[in-house]
Amino acid sequence: MSKSNALTVTLADENSSIYAELLRQLLDCPNWNDSSNSNRFKCDLYLGERNNLPFSQLSIFVNNKKLLVNYYRGSNVICKKCQLVRSLRFFKLDKSNWLPTSFIVSPGRANCDDRSDLQLFMSQGSRACIVKATSGAKGDGIFITDDYSRVIDHVEQQKSSFVVQEYITDPLLLPNGKRKFDIRCWVVVTDKFEAFFYKKGVVRTCSEPYDMHDFSNKVSHLSNHCLQEELSENFGKYEINNEIFFDEFEAILKESFCFELSRICEELKSVAALCLSCIKDKCRIYPDESMQFFQVFGFDYMLDVNGNVYLLEINGAPACAEKLKTEFVTDLIALQINPFFGLGDLKCPSNFEQILLHDF
Ligand code: ADP
Repeated sequence: MSKSNALTVTLADENSSIYAELLRQLLDCPNWNDSSNSNRFKCDLYLGERNNLPFSQLSIFVNNKKLLVNYYRGSNVICKKCQLVRSLRFFKLDKSNWLPTSFIVSPGRANCDDRSDLQLFMSQGSRACIVKATSGAKGDGIFITDDYSRVIDHVEQQKSSFVVQEYITDPLLLPNGKRKFDIRCWVVVTDKFEAFFYKKGVVRTCSEPYDMHDFSNKVSHLSNHCLQEELSENFGKYEINNEIFFDEFEAILKESFCFELSRICEELKSVAALCLSCIKDKCRIYPDESMQFFQVFGFDYMLDVNGNVYLLEINGAPACAEKLKTEFVTDLIALQINPFFGLGDLKCPSNFEQILLHDF
């Protein structure tokens, strides 16, 4: 039944677990009606699909109302793999110790891409690299090699550009099974372009021991959840769903390596702050007073054996670990949705911590 004088929310993304949950929680309270199936552009909150946002239709209906949309225009410059490298280069951050050395290689661009630098890099002590398509996701098509010709032969058969990146060969391994892992953290950028780091993250584990001698063994080298689930019989053997949450991770780091999760989190935050600072101006070049934006970003990191942090990629439309989803979305509502629409109190939920962005 529709509620009178309620705000309206449209969900136009079938695939986002975060926004499906957001819709569910909003409709549970008296302030919201669902406009997804009628007047979908005439709403207060539009939860769209990242690559398919109907800004012109939305702007027709806004008038004097406030419309909030769940993606920043311009944020793609850090969410596609090649563009991330380019953006970091532009701000002279690409040589940062937290970014594995990265090269952009494009089919048919032998004279103007990074392949000669890559060749030099790979020839020095036959270094291994990981090859990723710029818009790739979920480990799809990724491979690891120390053979430069193989990289070039592969890229030349494709249509899109690739990031060819130093492979971190000495990852920190979980003591139980000597397995590799990556770390996913969520950061919300609010309509005021303030960034908030979510203190609860998730470690995504490989199902098989790390095998330095066989780069073709994907389940030992790529910690992507879907790939592990699809390819390994051991999926879920060590941890439910191949996930470790921060409380447990903190204990593992301390007991097995004498590392403090708090120190590592400081580095994760500082990397996120630098990357988001790169898009500040890009996201502000669309001064559209009728529409305001916010965005949830997923930052993927890994650690090496010395506890150094590396940024792997930034996801502009991340999923949320099932176990954290309900609480994350409740916190997101308290952080962004309620204050924007003048509902609830303005206190920052305790799971979020503001990270200060830079002015470059
Ligand atoms: P995708 O978007 O396909 O998930 P990622 O960049 O996140 O691509 O890489 C997938 C996985 O490959 C990561 O989760 C990690 O396990 C591994 N990986 C990625 N980059 C590196 C790297 N530079 N060194 C070592 N392992 C890496």
